[in-house]
Amino acid sequence: MKNSRLLDDPVRSLYVQVPFCPERCDYCSIPVSVRPERADGYIKALSIEKERIRSRVDLGKVETLYLGGGTPTVLSPGLFSDLIDLLREDLPPLKEVTTESRPDTLDRPMLEMLEKKGVTRLSIGMETVSSVQMAFLGRTSCSYDVVRMIESVRNSFSGQISMDFIIGGEGYDSGKFRTVAGTLLEAGLDHLSAYPLTLENRTVLTLRETRGELPDSMEDDAAEAWRIATSDLRSMGWKQYEVANFSRNPHTVCRHNLSVWKGDSYLGMGAGAHQRVLSVRSENVHSHLSYESRLNLGETPIEHLEKLTGEQLFLETIYTNARLSYGFPKAWLDERISPYALSGFLSRMIDHRWIEEKELDRERIVFTPEGWIWLDSLMGEISVLVEG
Ligand code: SF4
Repeated sequence: MKNSRLLDDPVRSLYVQVPFCPERCDYCSIPVSVRPERADGYIKALSIEKERIRSRVDLGKVETLYLGGGTPTVLSPGLFSDLIDLLREDLPPLKEVTTESRPDTLDRPMLEMLEKKGVTRLSIGMETVSSVQMAFLGRTSCSYDVVRMIESVRNSFSGQISMDFIIGGEGYDSGKFRTVAGTLLEAGLDHLSAYPLTLENRTVLTLRETRGELPDSMEDDAAEAWRIATSDLRSMGWKQYEVANFSRNPHTVCRHNLSVWKGDSYLGMGAGAHQRVLSVRSENVHSHLSYESRLNLGETPIEHLEKLTGEQLFLETIYTNARLSYGFPKAWLDERISPYALSGFLSRMIDHRWIEEKELDRERIVFTPEGWIWLDSLMGEISVLVEG
């Protein structure tokens, strides 16, 4: 990968953080407010940030908009509709508009508004279909009847539907997940994401762990359950195009995330949002109240800003591309690692079946599902070879 590629790298995606939720889940470390009725001030702050961004970044090549959170659909349909109008103003026609949501926020007026405003992708945080796992995760609402959920969404919304699931934790059942995932494929779900349960800092579950209330092996068990779940998904026909993401077919991948993973520049707006334009990466202040007050005072919402070196950017791009099912060109490593060291590294990868031998013949590095399990340590090795 030549650095010249990065010099004319236009921004193709815009992410907007909407940090409001109906409740706070016990596994979640994202700073969110459970007072969505106070979101007006936040939307106003977003409009100020958008003007700041517009004055220094060309938005003319943006193709995808992603509203994440939080739970954007916890806003009233009227306020959410105003937010979409505000964001789409000055953007070119978009190829994909996604919003995250929860099942308990998807009533008919909300779905009809999303349809009318041109949302093309609805990502539903189902997380679980088990009442025990739901209680463990600290959620008070989920939908057990996934087929009925899809049918009721389809009555008012014609875009693609994705569902997220958490694998592991008390009440998680591999057999039940397998059955549900097969049913979802038959019912026409377009996309599915499956994440292993992890214990993040500043969450209720982590506090419970420090009090000895959870089994020590909980994260390892979840990682093992995730391996089984992803293998089941592949064998039933779901296409694993990224480590945790599965599409029904090549037309139902998430274009927004794909653009970021491939290494395009991306913009983020809102509390805690990240962005990287060329080699400059920044992150906004996390608290939505600080975010609002900074913008109202005419200050920048950016909390951290760093200029990545060519090597940092290279390694970051390799890492995100390695998570994709079609990997990246071997030439990217040829440019940075000596032939002798690279050939030794790749031979070991093949011996372990961590990369696809056939793809290497085609001059591409494509990790196998077994290789993905070791990706973090393999990336550490690649970074040592690059430095060497
Ligand atoms: S997991 Fe989702 S719904 Fe729960 S608090 Fe976090 S962002 Fe909100």
